[in-house]
Amino acid sequence: MRLQFPSGVAGAGSRTRRPDAGPIAQPRGFLEKKMAIPRLRHAVRTLFEVPAALRRLSRACSTFHAFTDVLRLPKRQMTKLVFPLQELERQLTPDSRLDLHVKIFDPSLEDISKAEAVFTATSRNRISYLSSAVRLDHAPDLPSPEVCFIGRSNVGKSSLIKALFSLVPEVEVRVSKKPGHTKKMNFFKVGKYFTLVDMPGYGYRAPEDFVDMVETYLKERRNLMRTFLLVDSVVGIQKTDSIAIEMCEEFALPYVMVLTKIDKSSKGHLLKQVLQIQKFVDRETQGCFPQLFPVSSVTYSGIHLLRCFIANITGNLKTDGL
Ligand code: GDP
Repeated sequence: MRLQFPSGVAGAGSRTRRPDAGPIAQPRGFLEKKMAIPRLRHAVRTLFEVPAALRRLSRACSTFHAFTDVLRLPKRQMTKLVFPLQELERQLTPDSRLDLHVKIFDPSLEDISKAEAVFTATSRNRISYLSSAVRLDHAPDLPSPEVCFIGRSNVGKSSLIKALFSLVPEVEVRVSKKPGHTKKMNFFKVGKYFTLVDMPGYGYRAPEDFVDMVETYLKERRNLMRTFLLVDSVVGIQKTDSIAIEMCEEFALPYVMVLTKIDKSSKGHLLKQVLQIQKFVDRETQGCFPQLFPVSSVTYSGIHLLRCFIANITGNLKTDGL
């Protein structure tokens, strides 16, 4: 059963800006010239105004990181943000609605709220970058369940991991994109709950030792609970994605397809891509979770649901409903 949260908790006046709305323009300059404020006074004022503007900007950017902010949205907007697949399904004719499997993982808002605690740092739940490794035998030996994120370079993997950890902004998601830099597996510890592993991005320039590293990890990591395979929703499944899919299938891994950057396409294009990927998952895969997870690291669409899914599959969501 879905929890009923009070609607309209925040009035229209308290509604916050979209995170991608950009900096708030300051109507300065013109007036100051007119009024001929002395330079020193102007400099002192600016000194005080900059932190205020930054605070406003950071408040705007923090919108939707926390689920309590999401619950204040009007219902339609909230559904779009929390369940983007359901929003896409609404555009289908009733007889083709079954094409998208929106209800396989269908937590209540209460479950999503509970899952957020797993991603929130407290004195008892320390969330931090742990270590990096270039070989599996250098990886930390941890008893907690593990999930890993794989995807082509530029698919939006670092942005997604940053979005998942946005409640703990001090967690540094390291990006080593410079050609020639060693690509590593980065381990993040989420308290006693689980470990998240950011695997190096693959692509046509990926060195062989990288393939070895990913392959060995996927094949041999005993506590690996689920692999999250990222696909760019704008371009769909590419050749290198197919290689990763084949690898997951060959090793009989349970994996999940996450569709990134959903804010970038028109509704029509996104729906076309999602249906095409869904058809591929239904017909060509065995180990892939049938429900797709569309996300945007810019608007936070789908991020809360993904957090809830991770909490659930790592055994950290105590609920009867799922
Ligand atoms: P990685 O190489 O897979 O780690 O990819 P990044 O996270 O660095 O993202 C690659 C590019 O895509 C960057 O320019 C990001 O700003 C952009 N990007 C990532 N996620 C999103 C998203 O959800 N929406 C949009 N519009 N851009 C994104």
